[in-house]
Amino acid sequence: MDTCGKIAVIGAGPAGLLTSFFIRRHDVIIFEEHTFLGRPEHCTGIVGSYTASFLTRILGNKIIENEYYGIVFHTPHRKIELLLDKPIAYHVKRPFLEKKLAEKVQRLGHELILGTRVKPGQKLGSLRVGRRSFQFQKIIASDGAYSFLRRLCFGPIRNKIYGVQAVIKTNINDPKIFHILYTNTMPDFFGWLVPLNEEKALIGYGVKKHVYHPWRVIRYLAKKIRINKYRVKRFFGGTIPLDPPLKKPVCKRKIFFIGDSIPLTKPYTGGGLYGITLLARPLAKLLEGEITINNYLDIYSGYYKKFVIQHRLVRVVKKLGYWMPVLFLEDLYKLKMFEEYQFDEHERIAYKSMIVLPYTLPKLIFSTLRTR
Ligand SMILES: Cc1cc2nc3c(=O)[nH]c(=O)nc-3n(C[C@H](O)[C@H](O)[C@H](O)COP(=O)(O)OP(=O)(O)OC[C@H]3O[C@@H](n4cnc5c(N)ncnc54)[C@H](O)[C@@H]3O)c2cc1C
Repeated sequence: MDTCGKIAVIGAGPAGLLTSFFIRRHDVIIFEEHTFLGRPEHCTGIVGSYTASFLTRILGNKIIENEYYGIVFHTPHRKIELLLDKPIAYHVKRPFLEKKLAEKVQRLGHELILGTRVKPGQKLGSLRVGRRSFQFQKIIASDGAYSFLRRLCFGPIRNKIYGVQAVIKTNINDPKIFHILYTNTMPDFFGWLVPLNEEKALIGYGVKKHVYHPWRVIRYLAKKIRINKYRVKRFFGGTIPLDPPLKKPVCKRKIFFIGDSIPLTKPYTGGGLYGITLLARPLAKLLEGEITINNYLDIYSGYYKKFVIQHRLVRVVKKLGYWMPVLFLEDLYKLKMFEEYQFDEHERIAYKSMIVLPYTLPKLIFSTLRTR
């Protein structure tokens, strides 16, 4: 087995590339199994203001394709609209994000090797690249929801949602508003319509099991959102990991997990880019020796606790109806208590919801009885 003094990064997704971008004093080698960055495409690309400003500070405004001032929620009972005077969410161009990050990372002198699937070596901490095995100094496991190192160190991610979406050509009345649709036939997640501009949108949904043909579901969603004429350009999608995050995303002080391999995804919406922007810089600091492992684990544990609270809340929400939090959101919005930065901080919305509980509870009971 050969020894390599570099830090190996498995996967050139946003997690691997962003962490590599913050590593300046060590040599990094990034392995990506696909020959094209960001392909196959899977992500919708909706992020909140924190993630959007974090990414634009590094990559410039061109990575933002659209911004949204409102959300329309289609619950099984009625439509609820939230309109703000500041953008509530942004659309990040996804394969473009990887491309721009890769350019930055390569400019730092890091090596990016495309079309190379890395496999586990004989010892934990060694990797097989082609026919050769290497012992790397450190390994960043940023290889997504099916990470092989995650499986070896902690077991596989079990709870998943499959996201399917189509790019459609249509006429969008208001491209600054996106739609979230809850139906009883899709109890574990929701559907969405995300306009990219006046004539292009992403329409999609998340399911635990593929029961219906995607064409049928897209037709159903479009009808519900009242998109009458549209042309499907292409379908794409992928897996959204929804397990609670690892308590310690580190294995034997040698392998460091980030992104969907943890998974640090928001359990209600499946958004994973936020968790990556939170952790990439602290992880790079740890690998550079600027902070100790205990400092790093302290930082992580702050995020971990918030995500675990979100997971507990989502478990309750799933029992009552996935649309249920929207009723609280509506009351917070009416009382001007909903702020755009809470797009990412669902646990904060839950705390605030306690204030509006007396208003929302009767509506909640009424809606729940109607749904049963
Ligand atoms: C349908 C869908 C919609 C989504 N919408 C949103 C959204 O609106 N907002 C949001 O914030 N998040 C969204 N997400 C989640 C977001 O896409 C992920 O959280 C994010 O891409 C995770 O980044 P990552 O780098 O951890 O993993 P990935 O993006 O999966 O990247 C992992 C990379 O590792 C490579 N790889 C894997 N194994 C190996 C190997 N053995 N050797 C070499 N390379 C390997 C893969 O090819 C891949 O390029 C969505 C996800 C899906 C599926």
